[in-house]
Amino acid sequence: MAKGLPSRSENYSEWYNELVKRADLADNSDVRGCMIIKPYGFAIWEKMQRALDDMFKETGHNNAYFPLFIPKSYLSKEASHVEGFAKECAVITHYRLKNDENGNGVVVDPEAKLEEELIVRPTSETAIWSTYKKWVQSYRDLPILLNQWANVVRWEMRTRIFLRTAEFLWQEGHTAHATRDEAVEETARMLDIYAKFAEEWMAVPVVKGRKTANERFAGAEDTLCIEALMQDGKALQAGTSHFLGQNFAKAFDVKFQSKEGSLEYVWGTSWGVSTRLMGALIMAHSDDQGLVLPPKLAPIHVVIVPIYKGDEQLEQIRQIITPLLNDLKAAGISIKFDDDDQARPGWKFAEYEMKGVPVRVAVGMRDLEQGLIEIARRDTLSKEQRPLEGSAQYIIDLLDEIQSSMHKKALNFREENTTEVNSWDDFTSQIEKGGFISAHWDGTPETEDKIKELTKATIRCIPFDGDACKGKCILTGKPSERRVLFAKAY
Ligand code: AMP
Repeated sequence: MAKGLPSRSENYSEWYNELVKRADLADNSDVRGCMIIKPYGFAIWEKMQRALDDMFKETGHNNAYFPLFIPKSYLSKEASHVEGFAKECAVITHYRLKNDENGNGVVVDPEAKLEEELIVRPTSETAIWSTYKKWVQSYRDLPILLNQWANVVRWEMRTRIFLRTAEFLWQEGHTAHATRDEAVEETARMLDIYAKFAEEWMAVPVVKGRKTANERFAGAEDTLCIEALMQDGKALQAGTSHFLGQNFAKAFDVKFQSKEGSLEYVWGTSWGVSTRLMGALIMAHSDDQGLVLPPKLAPIHVVIVPIYKGDEQLEQIRQIITPLLNDLKAAGISIKFDDDDQARPGWKFAEYEMKGVPVRVAVGMRDLEQGLIEIARRDTLSKEQRPLEGSAQYIIDLLDEIQSSMHKKALNFREENTTEVNSWDDFTSQIEKGGFISAHWDGTPETEDKIKELTKATIRCIPFDGDACKGKCILTGKPSERRVLFAKAY
């Protein structure tokens, strides 16, 4: 076990907190619930951003930026929206401080009270729809396909680094359409993009589905989501895509003249993923040795550690290894050649294991004399000696193999930890063990609340795939049209 890291089975939550620190991803800040994302953690987030941003642009979206502050009155315009977000809003009341007359440092200047208080955006629907009113007159102005990368603030009471923070980074897409069908299609398209990103980049398998009315986004008609299973058997909502109907168009009076000349309300969607994805990535793959990163999101793909005595040997190794470095670089692989002479190779090995670098190459003079190098993969912790000759292609293929094998492993885990349950007794005992539970529910919010109260399990989603068979609700015995997915969640 790596020094200082508790094992997952011992204390999962401590393991996570320690890992985030030891892998140099992030720190808690002095401000409660906020985090400092460190360069190594931010490099992973930037890779996520780039991949997602490319997918958004390929599907016709453009980036824009709206203000951090929202007039309080805007938030109130959509009734269920304000109800959902009011409890976690940071409010700005003043715009100036002054020296305290009693010598107690600075205090808020009561004379600098804002006429209208401002909310620090918890999400930007209201700011954006008040602007769409100015942008949209005719069907020719539609669709609007916007995205913004930003920070938002939700005054969360129970926070945990990356998974749930008071301030988080995210992207929020906001689109406006002439027809209901087009908006519904967009909502599904963006969920598919999130699912593709989770599966193909993060190597995290997700279940696509629909939230129940209880769990729907405040102000949406329909919320679609992707749900992932973490190694401790808890679920994590990894992304959401909302069909807003005409709710925000009506709240902000956004109408357009149709081709036929009639005046109609605009249809909307919004969708977002956040730095929570960093938490999902860590929790889905990492082990007791540290972080395990899928190659597609790893800031460093390959670390090369020379094992040498004296500058002369180091120089020899460097020369012999240079063609390998060049071939890898040419293939777009990011490499670190760690010739730091202040640290021993064993220490370096542990450090790169902690940081989740997918492939480690150890190069020693004795091996090189036989034309060999040692290649170790982080995901399985296995290592082998390979001929230096042809090793560039071998490593390129190995990175692909690691990417797909991490996905397979996570998928197996999810399958092993998804159980069909048909009785209340089985449900309560299974939920204690963790994992996804597929069970019947009578479709009422009351039953959903009762199950949550009794077991802390929530309906993660009504999955799109399969499970459409009639049965009886596990709690009330009332008829049910289909199974839904329950779990305890982050
Ligand atoms: P929402 O606007 O509530 O649909 O959330 C959009 C995305 O942000 C979802 O993927 C959530 O998982 C994520 N999210 C919501 N609240 C937080 C939070 N406090 N910290 C980090 N991510 C969050």
